[in-house]
Amino acid sequence: MEVLKGVHSIDHSEEKDHSLETWILDCAEGVVLIDGGMTPQAVENIAAELKLMKRGWRDVKLILVTHKHGDHIKNLPKLKEVTGAPIKAQKLEAPLIENAVGVKIEGLDDKQVIPYCGGIEVIWVPGHSEGNSCYYLKKQKAIIAGDPIFGDPNCNITAPPEKYCLDIKQATKEMERLLKYDFNHILYTHGKDIIGGAKVKVKELVDRTR
Ligand SMILES: [Zn+2]
Repeated sequence: MEVLKGVHSIDHSEEKDHSLETWILDCAEGVVLIDGGMTPQAVENIAAELKLMKRGWRDVKLILVTHKHGDHIKNLPKLKEVTGAPIKAQKLEAPLIENAVGVKIEGLDDKQVIPYCGGIEVIWVPGHSEGNSCYYLKKQKAIIAGDPIFGDPNCNITAPPEKYCLDIKQATKEMERLLKYDFNHILYTHGKDIIGGAKVKVKELVDRTR
């Protein structure tokens, strides 16, 4: 569904208490997909959303990935096949993803601005994984966060759970990187997206975990 103008969020999960999201940006330059889910059903879900947007696989011009975990990357070979689009991730994460899925992943620098959709800035937030990253949408003042924060169906947010993190101390500390950005909305993978007032909630979380 379209959660912000030009920003679609898809929840692939069948369990209501543990969402698994991917995102589609509908831009003048074409469509940008962020993360791809892990099941054939997730590919179907993306196809259905593209259809609703009156778009198709070949309109996808770029695929961005937040990090290397299976629920975000397992569909990349299939998505590469149907879209032909380049796939990019933060430069520490790119080779790890490439090794895991066997398709070419191009590296991105921290704070690099991708010239799509009014500017998409890479925010590197290490700790959950080596090159875990968020994507800041300048035009919408939104952060597509992936996994540096987790939440629940009621928008209660936390640091990512230790069992899923490379380095929980680093993951918790580095959440503060998000606060350098001017944002109102945060869309993350596991939990309900926060539309409006998101920066205040992230600031509270950072203060609480210091
Ligand atoms: Zn993860």
